[in-house]
Amino acid sequence: MSEKLLKVKDLRTEFFSSKKSSVVAIDGVSFELEKGEIVGLVGESGCGKSVTSLSIMQLLKDTPGKVTNGEVIFEGKNLLTATKKEILDIRGGRMSMIFQEPMSSLNPSMRIDKQMIEGIRLHTDLSKEQARERAAKILSQVGIPDPQRVLKNYPHQLSGGMSQRVMIAMAMSCDPQLLIADEPTTALDVTIQAQILELMKKIQKEQGMSILLITHDLGVVAEMCSRVIVMYAGKIVEEAPVKILFGNPTHPYTQGLIASVPKLGSGVKVLPSIPGSVPDLSSMPKGCRFAPRCKYATDKCREQEPELLEVGAMQRCRCWLKQ
Ligand code: SF4
Repeated sequence: MSEKLLKVKDLRTEFFSSKKSSVVAIDGVSFELEKGEIVGLVGESGCGKSVTSLSIMQLLKDTPGKVTNGEVIFEGKNLLTATKKEILDIRGGRMSMIFQEPMSSLNPSMRIDKQMIEGIRLHTDLSKEQARERAAKILSQVGIPDPQRVLKNYPHQLSGGMSQRVMIAMAMSCDPQLLIADEPTTALDVTIQAQILELMKKIQKEQGMSILLITHDLGVVAEMCSRVIVMYAGKIVEEAPVKILFGNPTHPYTQGLIASVPKLGSGVKVLPSIPGSVPDLSSMPKGCRFAPRCKYATDKCREQEPELLEVGAMQRCRCWLKQ
């Protein structure tokens, strides 16, 4: 039987502008991740993907955001009721994260060796020397040809691709069970992007960890993931194994996203796009949140919100057309 590594249940995160006034950024998000699987979390910017990952990682502290409902069960423990120390032990150790922009995650005033050794020693019993050895080994695993030299570098001395490799090495340095990768290759050129994705896949296979891959790029999802969760305006609107989602997308938003992916040799000169934009958090439409952009919208859609329901084998969809 498959084992669940992460269970997110009915997660709600709000952003407060004052004590009484808030907007809901993610609303009732529930999903699970099994050990060793790569799941894609997709949607346009502003759909709540990154807020979901920051809520899971408990990294909202420096923002006006707060998780106001739900559970995040990681390896059987609810992170939302865990102590600060328990969270610090888990984060960077059993669970780690890679961000889109490595330069904003690496400390510019600290050499790579110091940053990596500190991180490793925080989560292991290794001596400084042993931690240094592990850092060099992981840098070489992520394809850095001269790890000893890179360890002595400051972040500004590294190229974009190299910094991203260092970030991956840092995230992997304590053998995480779960890696949350938020647009890990968006800032890189396509060749480096392909190399980094290949590398993540290789490490994932070797170490059997799970990855939650946050991206707006469905091509990356097709390449990397076994399952996909589609978010729109703070809610999950569809979830399915990759093959089913690409072969038979059931939600009009997913259909729009897939139609807008260029296909080699299709001869299509102008790709269709979804009209309009993601609604503002402060003025969510009544009923189905996708209704203002949906060509199938009816009065019922504009009045009542559909639930996320099973529509087939391992496929869930939030649309009145399927209920
Ligand atoms: Fe479109 Fe209605 Fe389905 Fe929403 S519920 S996606 S508006 S058809």
